[in-house]
Amino acid sequence: MAAKILLVEDSDTQLKFLRDGLKENGFEVETATNGGEAYKKLFEYVPDIVVSDIMMPVIDGYQLCRMIKNVDEIKKIPVILLTVLDKKIDSFWGKKAGAQLFLSKSIDMKELVRNINATLRRYPLTEEYKMALLSKSNPESAQVRLNSVLNDLLMKSVFANEFRNLSDFMNYERVLVEKLFSLLSSFVEYSVAGIFFSSPDDFAENILYIDTLGKNLPKSLLSDISYDFFRKMEEQKNISDSKFEVVRMLLGKELDYKFTDLNSKIIIPLIFDRKLIGGICFYTRQDTDYASFRYFDIMISELLAIFKMKYQYTEKEFMSVLDGLTGLYNRRQFEISLEQEYNRTKRHPSDFSLAILDIDFFKKVNDTYGHQYGDYVLKTVSDLMKSAFRKTDWLYRYGGEELVMIMPETNIEGAIIPVQRLRRMVEEYDFEYNGVKAKVTVSMGLTMNFQDFKTAAEMLKSADEALYKAKESGRNRVVLHEQS
Ligand code: GH3
Ligand code: MG
Ligand code: MG
Repeated sequence: MAAKILLVEDSDTQLKFLRDGLKENGFEVETATNGGEAYKKLFEYVPDIVVSDIMMPVIDGYQLCRMIKNVDEIKKIPVILLTVLDKKIDSFWGKKAGAQLFLSKSIDMKELVRNINATLRRYPLTEEYKMALLSKSNPESAQVRLNSVLNDLLMKSVFANEFRNLSDFMNYERVLVEKLFSLLSSFVEYSVAGIFFSSPDDFAENILYIDTLGKNLPKSLLSDISYDFFRKMEEQKNISDSKFEVVRMLLGKELDYKFTDLNSKIIIPLIFDRKLIGGICFYTRQDTDYASFRYFDIMISELLAIFKMKYQYTEKEFMSVLDGLTGLYNRRQFEISLEQEYNRTKRHPSDFSLAILDIDFFKKVNDTYGHQYGDYVLKTVSDLMKSAFRKTDWLYRYGGEELVMIMPETNIEGAIIPVQRLRRMVEEYDFEYNGVKAKVTVSMGLTMNFQDFKTAAEMLKSADEALYKAKESGRNRVVLHEQS
């Protein structure tokens, strides 16, 4: 019995040439002029092999091939892709799409026939397989299938586009998180969703960002979710400290539901290169089977790409000593130095002070003037800081818009002077970038290595608490840690 070929080619002349040549060589040939038509014919005609052009309108050869290889009933049908170009990249994509063979169109008919026969011998279809396929040859269901594949392709490109746009925000974690939530909430049902970026720095704070769709939910529920989520993450990586932070929250009446009211959930650790690079979770009160959500896989693979980029970005920052934007030493260096200075002054008693600065209403600066403006402000504040302190003081960028200063051989009374000087310098500075003027203030918390601290971390915490008080009591001020 002659082997049946489904030949797919959009050019009339090429199609005729190939069809006639193949028929002369004893094959039975059915033709289609684009991927969509070919897909439907697979179920009616049940070929032994598909020979397809790559460049075609609507659905091209790669997509056709990928469609075939993704559907159980037809994935065993071997596919040969033909192209005019001999480019490596075509062959690469052809293989990615799952094609059995990739041939240049410039080969002669004899060679093509030889290759088709070899492929047929290598990938023979059993009669049972073909019969099973034929029994499914209902043109309507093929159309439904085709539509769903087309939808998937469309969704995939829509997803890919939407997610790719987020790559501009790699170094603005909060912004990235907010954008991710607004994207996710547009196609996933949830009551509460969480996003977590794992850091290459084992000492970094592990934060689960939480979105409640603007609802005000009880803290206990959110901490239950955070606990539940991190327990799952811990299967992948040892997580020391964790906390959660609610973003996109509107204040209103607190809804009173409990963790046990959330009927469905999915927690997905995102792994790359055997490392945990982050995780996401969705919880909802409805009965929802998240895993069966049609576009979940596509969504996860796009998310993975974003998380991978973010992880690599953080890794680069972590590995380097200096912060790229401000030119200050980075957080990792700060942690090392603080620990060293703390231990040194324990062994050889002497004073040293520590201050944390946080720009006031910085989110508003970003929102009003854009992130570039925000970057400019941050850079300028760092420069003012450099000029306010002595060469012997050590300056670092601690986090987003938080800067820290270590002042060796300085007690808290001595430290107030440069710290207040800096606060005033910022207050008086006329910020201007691209012709846009703004005023900015900063709040600072100040502490020193008091006897009652047991660790460097306690000392840092006291500075942080003082900063918090400065914020609470009106901003644009310095608050000192008070010994109890
Ligand atoms: P507060 O006075 O309470 O500190 O208000 P805030 O708006 O400054 O609040 P918060 O400290 O929580 O917000 C910090 C914002 O800073 C969030 C983030 O969008 C932004 N941010 C962090 N790092 C950068 C950065 O490198 N560049 C820019 N442009 N923005 C950053
Ligand atoms: Mg701030
Ligand atoms: Mg801050």
